[in-house]
Amino acid sequence: MLVVVDATQGISPLLYSYCLVTTLACYLTYRATTTHQLWLTDLLLVCTTTACLGSIANAVGNPITWFLPIGLVMSLPVSAMHVRPWHALSTGAAVWATLFYVVQPSFERQLDLTLTLMLILASMMVAMLVCQTFCRIRKNVFDLQQQLHDMAYKDTLTGLPNRRAFMEALAATATDNAVTSRLFFLMLDIDDFKKINDSFGHEVGDRVLVEVAKVLKEQSSGHSFARLGGEEFAVAAHVADLAAAQGLAQGIVDAVNSNQLYGLSLSISAGLAEREQGEPLTSLMRRADLALYEAKREGKNRYATAARVAPVA
Ligand code: GH3
Ligand code: MG
Ligand code: MG
Repeated sequence: MLVVVDATQGISPLLYSYCLVTTLACYLTYRATTTHQLWLTDLLLVCTTTACLGSIANAVGNPITWFLPIGLVMSLPVSAMHVRPWHALSTGAAVWATLFYVVQPSFERQLDLTLTLMLILASMMVAMLVCQTFCRIRKNVFDLQQQLHDMAYKDTLTGLPNRRAFMEALAATATDNAVTSRLFFLMLDIDDFKKINDSFGHEVGDRVLVEVAKVLKEQSSGHSFARLGGEEFAVAAHVADLAAAQGLAQGIVDAVNSNQLYGLSLSISAGLAEREQGEPLTSLMRRADLALYEAKREGKNRYATAARVAPVA
């Protein structure tokens, strides 16, 4: 716009301040974090840009030729940015008001008032329609993304995070240098689950899985947890010491055991392992798995703590 200004004569000095405000409005629109902020900053942006264009049209002469094109160009495309039709409507109204103020067309000699008002009204209705259509498209895309995310990262039966989600979160915290607390890994497996399935059917087996997932969620709040597959679950806890991790393991074992479903006595076994300095996650999980077998061998309905990694000679 400043290039055009230099090429013309008799331009209002106000245009320079419009340019500054437009630049500021651009920055504010870029930084806007809420839909309300976006609406307000966009309002400022389109009004100042419209004022710039209107001033240039005045300066180059015959502004009436540009009156309707400027109004349409400034009010229609931005309506796609908004998330509420009334945001698009008010922005459109502000654009036309600014243009009327800057250009001040004469309706007796230059413009047909009725036709102009009809065009303005039509443009505002189209702006609302564009806004609503884009909102619907954006919502559909968002819902689809959410569905895809859930399909990829959630266990459909229990609603818990699945193995993929758990492993990604675990890998992220394990490599995060800002996390200084100790990392404990719990591998859990429902006891005699096959018997439950065989005696009461898979439907009851599924209900048991949902119930155990609920207990795990309650007991492990604040930690990462997941259903790894089948009747196996996992918890990754950043806690201060081994006693705290053992308290968590015992809490889960006791809570599952005190849960009564269809008169069934449920129990779960767990293997607990602490991650050694620089230990790969696969090794940590294998040690927890070995501890889980230990707990099963010792009679189930309990946890066992894994042996530490033998120091490299
Ligand atoms: P243990 O105490 O040694 O762990 O024995 P278990 O019977 O719990 O273990 P096993 O590995 O022999 O049996 C696991 C069973 O879990 C076998 C499989 O049919 C069942 N299972 C795996 N996934 C599901 C599921 O989503 N729903 C139901 N109902 N059963 C499942
Ligand atoms: Mg198993
Ligand atoms: Mg089992």
